[in-house]
Amino acid sequence: MSDIERSEPIRRKLAAWWEANARDLPWRFGRATPWGVLVSEVMSQQTQMSRVVPYWQTWMHAWPDAAALADATTAEVITAWGRLGYPRRALRLQECARVVRDQYADELPRTYDELTGLPGIGDYTASAVMSFAFGARIAVIDTNIRRVLSRVFRGEESLGGAAKPAERQLANRVLPDDAAQSVTWNQSVMELGATVCTAKNPLCDSCPVRDDCAFLAAGRPGLGERHTRPRQRFAGTDRQVRGLVLNALRTLPANAPVLPREQVEALWSDHVQLDQCVASLDNDGLIEMLPDGGVRLPR
Ligand code: SF4
Repeated sequence: MSDIERSEPIRRKLAAWWEANARDLPWRFGRATPWGVLVSEVMSQQTQMSRVVPYWQTWMHAWPDAAALADATTAEVITAWGRLGYPRRALRLQECARVVRDQYADELPRTYDELTGLPGIGDYTASAVMSFAFGARIAVIDTNIRRVLSRVFRGEESLGGAAKPAERQLANRVLPDDAAQSVTWNQSVMELGATVCTAKNPLCDSCPVRDDCAFLAAGRPGLGERHTRPRQRFAGTDRQVRGLVLNALRTLPANAPVLPREQVEALWSDHVQLDQCVASLDNDGLIEMLPDGGVRLPR
């Protein structure tokens, strides 16, 4: 049987499963603007969706559209990003907001080329916005979707790294022709990968497509195998040190926004690593170094 023939019963089962099991995230089911959907996708890139929810709600309350975010100070943006991680994403999102305000009259553009032309918006985010916000027929290709499609249709693990041409071809081939069905397909396959068909411990016994899955039928060969390097441990890394500095700055009172040098030094005992991290944060535009050795969030 061809991939396309196999995909139709799988699509029906996943659509029914989605209907009954989709998590009630606040940007789903038509409740968010296209801009809100884009913000949710950028926030979710390195962070679990369930953790993103309170940050997204606070953010959208403060800055409901691109124009509002464009006018925020850098300090406000970095503070609101909180512990979502990889805070350069927050600055890129604000750059994106300024382009949307200035070049698109505060309305998110609707074509793939225009979306990928925005600061910080790559293939995945552009496709996700086109599908989830605009209802367009386009294959969304993220780690979860790649893993599920590879297991179900190929009976093997997707090995991580950049998406291979064969994975893109498969995603496009099995995408339903009908636009509305394609949106549900993207959402349901992605949701299955996030909650049931997880990387290390897929819950095959409760999976809606267990009877159609080539990976399960083959005995789950090489379960959890990846070719990418394992994630770098966090403790002791520059990421940890940068996070300590940013968190200390976020919690300062508004009337005393400078962290003096001695308090910076108290954050981390290896002062060579600390100084490198402070310099890299300054270089990334996330903090400002003052002549006396203190630091603050950019105004
Ligand atoms: S049967 Fe198991 S491996 Fe196959 S899609 Fe479902 S959870 Fe994933």
